[in-house]
Amino acid sequence: MICERIERVLERIHKACQRAGRREEEVTLLVASKYADAHQIKEAFGCGVSIFGESRVQDFLKKYEQLASLPIRWHFIGRLQSNKVKYIIEKVELIHSLDRNSLAEEIDARAKKAGKRQDVLIEVNVGEEETKGGVAPQELDRFFQYVLSLEGIRVLGLMCIPPYKEDPDQVRPYFRSLREMKERLEREYGVALPHLSMGMSHDFEVAIEEGATIVRLGSIIWEGD
Ligand SMILES: *Cc1c(COP(=O)(O)O)cnc(C)c1O
Repeated sequence: MICERIERVLERIHKACQRAGRREEEVTLLVASKYADAHQIKEAFGCGVSIFGESRVQDFLKKYEQLASLPIRWHFIGRLQSNKVKYIIEKVELIHSLDRNSLAEEIDARAKKAGKRQDVLIEVNVGEEETKGGVAPQELDRFFQYVLSLEGIRVLGLMCIPPYKEDPDQVRPYFRSLREMKERLEREYGVALPHLSMGMSHDFEVAIEEGATIVRLGSIIWEGD
């Protein structure tokens, strides 16, 4: 069941890449696993998925323990409280949701302590929605410069959770603006930002057309379509 859904999703990713004139290897599937238990994650891993994204620290730690025998590449994609950074710093490959100074400071300190450099994406609140995390677009430059100055952190790109629109085509301008922000930062600061984490179950094809390198898919994998 899960394998079939994953196959179908990979086929849609493939087609979206073709439409956009992009190579399939440019887009990575991250399976958002907040709806799944360890058993289901194991099943999806068996279908060839290796990157899973968790949104809550407590759930993540539990599943991490339960699945310790599998070489899963864990990402953290949800809102992150500074006081929880210490629990995940040695367990996650990429944090998608860096959006404020206090959190950056804590990740920097904990990464140094762990003898690593933590890869992160900066989350941008592209829809400027009060209920959502992410740095405001007009604050991005200042925040980006600050994060660049921290030696315990390596920024690999940007992430967004745009406003929900029934018609995925209406989300396109948000995806496009995130890509433009990324390209501008690369130009102005002379750094490479390889990743754009954008696109969820109902809008990932549009996100791929607009340059997504990581799509984060949950419900389409766990609930079918
Ligand atoms: C749950 C979640 C997703 C996946 O959303 P779906 O619409 O279920 O595909 C993606 N990103 C984040 C940050 C999430 O919390």
